[in-house]
Amino acid sequence: MLSESTIASLKSNMRGGVIEQRDASYDTARKVYNAMIDRRPRLIARCSDVADVIAAVNFGRENNLVVSVRGGGHNFAGLGICDDGLVIDLSRMNYVRVDPKKRTILAGGGAVLGDIDHAAHAFGLAVPAGILSTTGVAGLTLGGGIGHLTRQCGLTIDNLLSVDVVLADGRFVTANAKDNPDLFWAVRGGGGNFGVVTSFLFKAHPIHTDYAEPMLWPMEGADQPSLRMS
Ligand SMILES: Cc1cc2nc3c(=O)[nH]c(=O)nc-3n(C[C@H](O)[C@H](O)[C@H](O)COP(=O)(O)OP(=O)(O)OC[C@H]3O[C@@H](n4cnc5c(N)ncnc54)[C@H](O)[C@@H]3O)c2cc1C
Repeated sequence: MLSESTIASLKSNMRGGVIEQRDASYDTARKVYNAMIDRRPRLIARCSDVADVIAAVNFGRENNLVVSVRGGGHNFAGLGICDDGLVIDLSRMNYVRVDPKKRTILAGGGAVLGDIDHAAHAFGLAVPAGILSTTGVAGLTLGGGIGHLTRQCGLTIDNLLSVDVVLADGRFVTANAKDNPDLFWAVRGGGGNFGVVTSFLFKAHPIHTDYAEPMLWPMEGADQPSLRMS
């Protein structure tokens, strides 16, 4: 059981706010992409910056809560949301910063693919990622990341240069080829098991427009792979 004063202590440490079950925004905040997932967390910590993430991680650990981390909320099994525990919701940390000279893109841990595409397209740049604009950068990248540009540019994790992570003990670390290389290896495919990633630094590619569309054959031509559509 969490007392009112314990919850108040989290609220006082969080800029982005904390949503409880009695709040009007609760049902909207617990929704994820897969509408079959109907989990009821005890608290949803809406993080607005790294300090909020540290406060939420420490609170979850000190109060022995089940914790889930939500990026884009697209995971089909609903791994970003839990029953009765604490959701660390990064959806407000969706900033993107493009460095056109270095051809790098920095994205917050709650950005979705459309946030990166919108920001990068203005500079004629792209990061290889997934096919839908609403998928979270975090869950997709931590799982590998495949999409239309994969064959030309590699997986999303092949283009990951560095991450900032809040670890389970509340420490903030940067992981890349030089700093904490073992953690950097782990986050490239290991999913959300190694800490809360607060930002991702990617290598971008000079790609302005990507044409992709499904190819549809009429049923009577289904056995003719070389059929040309007019
Ligand atoms: C319709 C649809 C289309 C898809 N298309 C593609 C595609 O084209 N290419 C592809 O590679 N994948 C695709 N996926 C799979 C998608 O990449 C995964 O479901 C991914 O987990 C979604 O990430 P998210 O941040 O939106 O999800 P969430 O549900 O928010 O989180 C997913 C997992 O990542 C963890 N996590 C989220 N944010 C963080 C963070 N900041 N730090 C640490 N852990 C975190 C969560 O705890 C959870 O375990 C698709 C999925 C769907 C449903």
